[in-house]
Parts: sequence; C-alpha cells; structure tokens
Amino acid sequence: MNRRISVAIDGPAGAGKSSISKVVAKQLGYLYIDTGAMYRGITWALLDQEIEISDTAAVKAALDHIELQLVPVEDGLRVLVNNRDVSKEIRTQYVTSHVSQVAAQKAVRTKLVEMQRSMASVGGVILDGRDIGSVVLPDAELKVYLTASVETRGHRRWLELKDKEDITLEEVCRTVADRDTMDMERKESPLICVDDAVVVETDHLSIEETVQKLTELIRNAEKGERHG
Ligand code: C5P
Repeated sequence: MNRRISVAIDGPAGAGKSSISKVVAKQLGYLYIDTGAMYRGITWALLDQEIEISDTAAVKAALDHIELQLVPVEDGLRVLVNNRDVSKEIRTQYVTSHVSQVAAQKAVRTKLVEMQRSMASVGGVILDGRDIGSVVLPDAELKVYLTASVETRGHRRWLELKDKEDITLEEVCRTVADRDTMDMERKESPLICVDDAVVVETDHLSIEETVQKLTELIRNAEKGERHG
C-alpha cells in the first residue's frame, strides 16, 4: 500500500490550485484543506462585523470572537463562520478585494497557521495556499508551485465570476495582479517559490492534464522518489 503523505500546493491567485487540489484529493482519498477559504472566512466575518480592517488591534481583538470551521462535503468544503455557512459569500469580489490586507496581518496568520497544522497532522493531506511549503508544512514530502501568466489567471477568475457579478475582464485581471503584489511583497509569510518545490506552469494545461500531472507527482512522492 502507498504511504500517505503531506502535499503543499502554493502559487498566485487563479493558478488553479483549489480546482485541481479538490479533484486530486478526492481521487486519492486525501483530505483537502483550502487555506485561502480560511483567510476569506475571517475577512468575511470582519467585514460583516464592520471592523476596520486596517486597524490591526481591532482585527486582533475580533479574532477571539470568530469561530471558523472547514467541513468536508461531497463536492469540496463548506466554510462556516460562527456556525453560519458562508461558502458562497467568501467568493464575492467584495471579500476578494479585502482578503490580502487581512491575510498580511500577523495575528490572523498565527491563528490560521495553528489550525492548518492541526488539521494536517492526520497525514494524507493536500493543503493549498501561499505559505504552505515555506511556513505551514516545511517538511511536506511534496511541494508544488502552481502558476500561470496573469492574463490566463485573470481570464479564469473572470469566467467564474462573470455570470454572478457585473465585472469586466480588465477589472478582474487588475485585482489578480494587485493581490499578487500584496501577497508577494508582504512582510509576514510572503508568497515565494521554495527551492524544493516542483514548478508546474498551467498556461497550456487543461484541468485534466494538471490533475494528471499532480497525481503522478503525488504517487511518486508516496514511493519516496524525489523530483526537481
Ligand atoms: O487561494 P485564494 O485566492 O482563495 O486566497 C485568498 C487570499 O488569502 C490570498 O490572496 C492571500 O492573500 C491569502 N492567503 C494567504 N495564505 C494562504 C492562503 C491564502 O495569505 N496560505
């Protein structure tokens, strides 16, 4: 039987991390943890409680009253904030445009990284985010950096959003690029491609091809094979 490992998937917004990780985790019977959804859940709660998100002391104090849960379900994950299902709300452009400012704050990261490590301790897990290979699971048996050009990523996000919100492709591309800058240039756990990550460029890969590539990488890592 194959060994069950920990897999860290990092990369910029819209690279396909969660769509791919969800499918691969289901196929391999791994637990999938979408850490971006956790930052989005906290952001939704702060906005809902009308907390000034640039006020780090107010954000820190509010965190004690935000109970976040990730519940695995058939088609992915549900995100609950103080027992309310906000899985849809956290995907709106409103939350998206504030999340990087919240995720840059130390108190927020400390709370979520602790939860993520505790959830991942069961093994047989795929975590996707920005700091998984560098901070959350530095000893993960497999680290992947999934990326694509900003145009490809913006276009993918726009396709997901265009029927739900009144937003142009240009606006979505701009938000994606702004989020990249904030996530890569922040002081706390910036998005980096760690030296031991396998880089997968998805510009010219379909979802199926990327799923296949990731599955192969995981199967090899389960056998203890190195990559790179
Ligand atoms: O992956 P997703 O686009 O849902 O992530 C939303 C935001 O959450 C990112 O733009 C980033 O600011 C933050 N994030 C993070 N660290 C993670 C996952 C997400 O800072 N591990």
